[in-house]
Amino acid sequence: MNRLKKWIIGLCFIVLAVFLWILASPSPEGVLVLEYHQVTEHTDEDAYRYNVPPEDFRQQLSYLQSQGYTTISMLDFMRAKKGKQELPEKPLILTFDDGYEDNYTTLLPILEEYGMKATVYVVTNNIGQPGYLTWNELRDMQGRGIEIGSHTANHQPLTQLPPAMRADEVRLSKLLMEWNGIHTIFTFSYPNGAFDASLPALLQQNDYLTAVTGDAGYNTFATNPYLMQRVNIPHPRFGLLEFKLRLFKAEVFTKLGIHQHLAGENGEDLPITVRRN
Ligand SMILES: [Zn+2]
Repeated sequence: MNRLKKWIIGLCFIVLAVFLWILASPSPEGVLVLEYHQVTEHTDEDAYRYNVPPEDFRQQLSYLQSQGYTTISMLDFMRAKKGKQELPEKPLILTFDDGYEDNYTTLLPILEEYGMKATVYVVTNNIGQPGYLTWNELRDMQGRGIEIGSHTANHQPLTQLPPAMRADEVRLSKLLMEWNGIHTIFTFSYPNGAFDASLPALLQQNDYLTAVTGDAGYNTFATNPYLMQRVNIPHPRFGLLEFKLRLFKAEVFTKLGIHQHLAGENGEDLPITVRRN
């Protein structure tokens, strides 16, 4: 047998061993966060990618329930981190970006049917625009147990903005919602998942407790709370199988330690200061 063959066979064994190890090792501990946008029947070309039809969404919720997941909010997660609350055995956070109106008309009734909660990240300059949530809908959703977070004022990737504009996007979106009776905005979602090393500190200065990215993986109390990982759930082309594969990908990434560098520069945990208002 020549050298190349030996090398290829050796490599195959290594790949097989890693694959078996991933399958055999227990599911990662931690909080699973899913990233959605719209839940609606409509299939407008632009929105198609970000839209999960209600029937697929119901299937996904049924599957998550059958796997023992229980929904919590970002605030529940942070309270548990401070020892003020117990987490369920398999905690799950369902998040919805951009603040589309179907989050009120279609998503909310489905969540209520399943007894689940969710977090909705709103772009404040879209509030009341056609196709987006109104102030009354937002207040009603919050009253019915939905957590509301900020997705900035204008949905521009923060990494492309000068410092003063970044600060405005983070601060004004939170203040505007709180002035309009949405109490209290503790959580943030980076537009386009774009972040850099300076943004966690900016969010902390503005009294946010958590922020979510678009990188797949599970989150633990050791995860930097301003870089929480999420599994993106786009329009499913292959039904529930595709959904299961996406969850599996997050599991593999966590087991292999991919994205773990996001958990703080030196694995440190940023101190949390909360101002009550
Ligand atoms: Zn967005």
